[in-house]
Amino acid sequence: MGVFEAIASDTHEEVLYGYDPVSGLKAIIAIHSTALGPALGGTRFFPYQSEGDALRDVLRLAKGMSYKSAAAGLDLGGGKAVIIGDPSEIKSERLLRAFGRVVDSLGGRYVTAEDVGTTTADMITIAAETDWVTGLPDAHGGSGDPSPATARGVMGAMRAVAERLWGSDSLEDRTVAMQGVGKVGASLVERLTKAGAKTVVCDVDESASSAVASQHGSTVVGIEEIFAVDCDIFAPCAMGSAINASTVEQLRCRAVVGAANNQLDDDAHADRLAALGILYAPDFVVNAGGIINIADELHGYDWKRAIHAIDQIHDNVNRVLDKANRLGINSNEAAIAVAQERIDAIGGLRLKRRSHAS
Ligand code: NAD
Repeated sequence: MGVFEAIASDTHEEVLYGYDPVSGLKAIIAIHSTALGPALGGTRFFPYQSEGDALRDVLRLAKGMSYKSAAAGLDLGGGKAVIIGDPSEIKSERLLRAFGRVVDSLGGRYVTAEDVGTTTADMITIAAETDWVTGLPDAHGGSGDPSPATARGVMGAMRAVAERLWGSDSLEDRTVAMQGVGKVGASLVERLTKAGAKTVVCDVDESASSAVASQHGSTVVGIEEIFAVDCDIFAPCAMGSAINASTVEQLRCRAVVGAANNQLDDDAHADRLAALGILYAPDFVVNAGGIINIADELHGYDWKRAIHAIDQIHDNVNRVLDKANRLGINSNEAAIAVAQERIDAIGGLRLKRRSHAS
């Protein structure tokens, strides 16, 4: 597929290539939509096999950000950046600042943040060249690590699901099986334990799973065993594609509610989950706490205002699940519909205001 064909396939607004031969920067920024506001999305620094792979990834991720922000009720569009290369080998101050220049050239249409391969410390370096960066450390007036905010939102989503399935939002004595106990997963285990739930965890990094086991009494199982754990909620909190053709048939849970992005290897698995009687709370609605938190930084960070917005995730999940029931569609389709409707409705309104002003 050619570059323009790829851009047109999901109606992205703009794609910008940034290059700095001195530092070796090769970056692509994709803006999927600015209908609701500036396109916010992190910068992924990754050794892509080819420029085509990088383009495909950035386009897919930017579109996902449009849906995530829209479904969360944010006045933000969707965008994403990728830097091609191994961050442990080529990341440098010059490269990050050169990237900051590329971001700045978009004049605020795209706002960057951290993602896989970049850190909050990198955001400080990028901020030397542009104001269009968020997710800065606390010491720089930012909101710091978004993971606790993400975990808080996942808890809200789990409570909404518990209420629908068991008639009470209490998670006491519920068993939650968790794939991955990194930054978000560990914070989630802490919150679940406080709420009286039992956790069964796994992690490829054994030190991570044994740390939560000793701190919170979690039961540790192997990474292949986690899917078949008899539990109330399965919470994917590791990488994408936790729900695939093989794992979906192993699940012994009533619901899937987790932090990971792109949990469904294929959107069709949402139908299979529904057929199995497993309630799927769509990932991009559930895990929006992090973006809600960093988006607040754009107004001068206020933790109370941020958590107020994060706590709406509970109702956002209900809205999506109600829509799925009403229309007889799966919850993933309902989440996309909720997001798209808001993009169309509010995006249209913004255009109207602009034409009045001109
Ligand atoms: P992290 O890297 O801190 O944690 C991921 C953990 O998963 C690690 O401990 C890793 O060892 C483990 N892991 C990797 N592959 C695994 C496997 N096959 N089985 C079991 N464990 C495995 O990342 P994080 O920040 O906690 O994010 C977790 C997920 O949530 C990611 O998909 C991320 O994109 C998504 N997410 C994170 C945030 C956030 O605020 N950090 C926000 C939205 C979405």
